[in-house]
Amino acid sequence: MSRKRYLVTGGAGFVGSHVVAALLERNADVVVLDNLSIGHRAAVLPGAELVVGDLADPSAVDALVGAGPWDAVFHFAALSLVGESVRLPFKYLLENGVNGIRLIDACVRHAVPRFVLSSTANLFGTPDRMPIDEEVRIDPASPYGESKFMIERALHWANEIHGLRSACLRYFNAAGADPQGRLGEDHNPETHLIPLAIDAVLGRRPALAIFGSDYATPDGTCIRDYVHVNDLADAHIRVLDQLDRRSVRYNVGTGQGYSVRDITEAVGRIAGRPVPYVMGQPRMGDAAILIAGAEALRADTGWIPQFTDLDEVVATAYRWREAHPGGYGDK
Ligand code: UDP
Repeated sequence: MSRKRYLVTGGAGFVGSHVVAALLERNADVVVLDNLSIGHRAAVLPGAELVVGDLADPSAVDALVGAGPWDAVFHFAALSLVGESVRLPFKYLLENGVNGIRLIDACVRHAVPRFVLSSTANLFGTPDRMPIDEEVRIDPASPYGESKFMIERALHWANEIHGLRSACLRYFNAAGADPQGRLGEDHNPETHLIPLAIDAVLGRRPALAIFGSDYATPDGTCIRDYVHVNDLADAHIRVLDQLDRRSVRYNVGTGQGYSVRDITEAVGRIAGRPVPYVMGQPRMGDAAILIAGAEALRADTGWIPQFTDLDEVVATAYRWREAHPGGYGDK
């Protein structure tokens, strides 16, 4: 079999870098396109080629997509701060939505056969049932979610009219880090619960603010579905086979929910001391419970999350963060 060749936009970011690692493990040729505004040069493992470039530059994108053939394009490059998107909707609709659509256009023109999109559970706004399967009504909760939906819709038409097969993977909460300790989560600013709780317990920042304790959940804090980033990466690889036949969209999560308190307790167990926290105000737009119904992904691809123990998920994140006080050290 000939070596597979993949283009990965945003491959220097958190999820993208773990997918690159999984592709390299499968002996593929991988080219990463990243402008390094959010991603990190050191997150691109040796073995992958990094092209520093911007999706906002159509001629550069066209040249790179045209330098195929690619077995698939994976698209991760995006702004992903929900809160920022509510303040600056057009930044998200343009930089994520429009640039993503331009990338798809280039893929169509250069006859790329498969496209895998990093999408989001934010598509489901306030879901009318739980767990959230693929039939739940789409009503994006923010311009960030809307920007991903714009790309999903463009992929729909790219499939219908041009035969570009695509997989849209709607992630719930990506968590953990490379168990080998090569890669981790390093956002600037960091807004995610697990890294913030780890930094709080390591004394690197003040007490964690828990965003609301009056939700309709057993302990009053929000419940989310934390899926290990390696399991997420595995889902990206597994869907490629589906794309030989049809386009797909899957919700990706474990189906198991944990509250903010569950997370702080898990971080405390790993650290050997409790996470300092204060009770804060609820964050605008936060749903009480978001849990994935990922049965379709399991049934169609045989995907089974390997990280089923919350402490194990948290431990992989903890190890990387403890060993990298300044993250990748480039920002
Ligand atoms: N959260 C919190 N304090 C923080 C950051 C997050 O209590 O400093 C809560 C947040 O309200 C949500 C959960 O932790 O219920 C996960 O938040 P995160 O931002 O990690 O992911 P999201 O679910 O928003 O995608």
